[in-house]
Amino acid sequence: MEKYQKHGINPLLISIATSQKLDSALRPTVAMLPSKYAKLVYKNMSVVNAEFPENIFRLTCQKCGKSGDYDLGTLVFPLRVAEPGDRMEKFQAIGYFRCKHCNAAGEWELSPRTKTMLAGKMAAAEAPKIAGDDSMAEVIFGEALIDKIFAPRWGSEIENYFFNKLAETPKDAYLWNRLGNAYYRGKRPELAVTAHEQAIANDSGQVESHFSLGKMLVECGELELAATHLRQAVAASCQYKYLSAYDLREIIVAALEILLTVYKQSDNKINMLPKPNEQAIIQQGKNQIAATAMLDFDIDAENRETLYPLAEVYLGERFNELLPAQRATNNQQAKRKAVWPVAGKTNKQKPAKKNKKKKRK
Ligand SMILES: [Zn+2]
Repeated sequence: MEKYQKHGINPLLISIATSQKLDSALRPTVAMLPSKYAKLVYKNMSVVNAEFPENIFRLTCQKCGKSGDYDLGTLVFPLRVAEPGDRMEKFQAIGYFRCKHCNAAGEWELSPRTKTMLAGKMAAAEAPKIAGDDSMAEVIFGEALIDKIFAPRWGSEIENYFFNKLAETPKDAYLWNRLGNAYYRGKRPELAVTAHEQAIANDSGQVESHFSLGKMLVECGELELAATHLRQAVAASCQYKYLSAYDLREIIVAALEILLTVYKQSDNKINMLPKPNEQAIIQQGKNQIAATAMLDFDIDAENRETLYPLAEVYLGERFNELLPAQRATNNQQAKRKAVWPVAGKTNKQKPAKKNKKKKRK
């Protein structure tokens, strides 16, 4: 097996991204991916994948008849089915994997032993948790749906779903972003960055892809590169139409939070906020530039809440979509007046933190 070929890659990914015809029997390596970051992320795979469970099971490929151990990633079991045995037939595996022997995907046979082990996994997940057990959920109950209609059985079916759409519109940045998210949840960050890079190549204002790239690059220790993408996510957010103003604000806050950490880790060398040239691309309003230049915000690294007013500046016009009661900008000003009355400065008590960290159970 060649270097960078441990995990199967669909040659169609390269075909669609580069609009070149490739032999469908080709077994691509990571080095062949049209991507700047794929190799880097591949080398740091275990760190980037840390948030996902490992569910290794033996499956048999129906194409070539050979068996192998595969990481099924997050498992989703249906809540209720008529026949209890059906739950084993209808579970979903979000992990992305292909046959180690013939590179096929999606046609798997489960041996009775694998089924027994999966049933055990499901039963363990259904049992009440032992107190103090903070381990991550390896199993989810319910149904994973794409576009509210498609229930994929395997991670590779999610890829197929987006490939079918991308075959029609290969320059659709939003589709590439969603494919990137699917690969990421499928525990294939090297494929995820490839898709996200396609997204930003087709639309430099693809906020979610910039954010995802930034997040993964931070995990790889590439602070400078990560910050570039995170700042672009922040700068482009005012013109991003695929998220509600609330979700968009959450992304900006999350990006600012990482940028603040990177800023500190780099001894204040890596800029936290978008530079004027990064903003120029998007033509930010005068207000945003003025506000960020003045940096008139009380930012407390320990308190996420303090980043909201700054995030709202970057929402631009979309700030108006937030209900007045939900705006941090107004609320904070009001709160400040109440807690620190101008007349009596003796009261040094800090305002109560809104989002107290949840107590660990
Ligand atoms: Zn096979």
